[in-house]
Amino acid sequence: MTGGAGFIGSHLCRLFVEKGDLVICVDNFITGSKENIQDLFNKPNFKLIEHDISNPLYLDEDLDWVMHFASLASPKYYLGYPIKTLKSGLLGTHNCLGIAKLKDAKFFLASTSEVYGDPLVHPQPEEYWGNVNSIGARSCYDESKRGAEALVYAYYNQHKLDVRVVRIFNTYGPNMQVDDGRVVSNFIVQALRGEEVTVYGRGIQSRSFCYIDDLVEGLEGFMKVDYKLPLNLGNPSEFTVIELARTVLKLTGSRSKITFCDLPEDDPKQRRPDITKAKKLLDWVPKIKLEEGLIKTIVYFKSKIS
Ligand code: NAD
Ligand code: UDP
Repeated sequence: MTGGAGFIGSHLCRLFVEKGDLVICVDNFITGSKENIQDLFNKPNFKLIEHDISNPLYLDEDLDWVMHFASLASPKYYLGYPIKTLKSGLLGTHNCLGIAKLKDAKFFLASTSEVYGDPLVHPQPEEYWGNVNSIGARSCYDESKRGAEALVYAYYNQHKLDVRVVRIFNTYGPNMQVDDGRVVSNFIVQALRGEEVTVYGRGIQSRSFCYIDDLVEGLEGFMKVDYKLPLNLGNPSEFTVIELARTVLKLTGSRSKITFCDLPEDDPKQRRPDITKAKKLLDWVPKIKLEEGLIKTIVYFKSKIS
């Protein structure tokens, strides 16, 4: 599991360790934290390797799966480290595919809704090819994942590697870092600290927010089915950013004011997953409504910043 000390990766590491699998977590801690996986350090079936997956990695163990989740994932970080982002998406994916091929393991790529760019089709089905500015500020992330997908299908076609590609839509919950920079964590942390809540643009852009437990259930389900094409996972309930800000203020009881900041370059105007395929293939639907997930996430962030 690369990126195993990150937000999503740490939940997956815990799930597999609890199920009794041997988990090898590979992370360079650029955005992840040891705290996220601290409770796993004393488990005999958990091993941590501090390593940048943009560089080759040699493992002694036999593997059933190679799960590649390492990436700068928040715009705040990938805009700050565009080359590292491209390297973990392209070189990192290549290295992980090489490991999977050598070990005769299945390969699982954490791709993203960002492959659809600023989408002109709404909601986004997997067949949509996207609308990406290949030289814009976000291209380091979008193209790293599009290139990663291309690498996966090259290994599938040429080496018959058994692959899964999940396109994850905005997911949030415990184990996000206080300084992660993505919208849910920013708004909650700002509201709890009584700081201004920073809405970018006029806040009329939309996102669809999935709580981590729903995503993890979908990811686990995807590992169990034999489906080689990319699959969307996310919660199709769509909200504008300003609606999210108001909901966070209501749920935290904060007296923070909303402040409007510049809209970042190429910020997608709308995003909502079409999850018809996931529903059918995995018999999966996200169950946790936004307010319910936000309440759990607020409890987590309260413990982090007090
Ligand atoms: P995160 O930043 O919390 O976790 C990423 C982890 O990868 C961190 O622990 C980081 O230290 C590690 N990492 C980054 N580059 C690395 C490298 N070169 N070598 C080793 N480790 C490295 O982000 P997350 O939200 O948990 O995202 C996990 C994966 O899911 C990413 O691939 C991301 O693109 C994808 N994804 C997440 C979302 C979301 O909403 N959370 C949406 C779409 C896709
Ligand atoms: N956003 C915002 N304020 C913030 C952080 C983000 O208004 O403090 C907006 C951002 O411009 C985008 C949306 O919230 O329209 C989601 O941003 P995020 O960084 O979470 O991820 P994205 O979906 O853009 O990858």
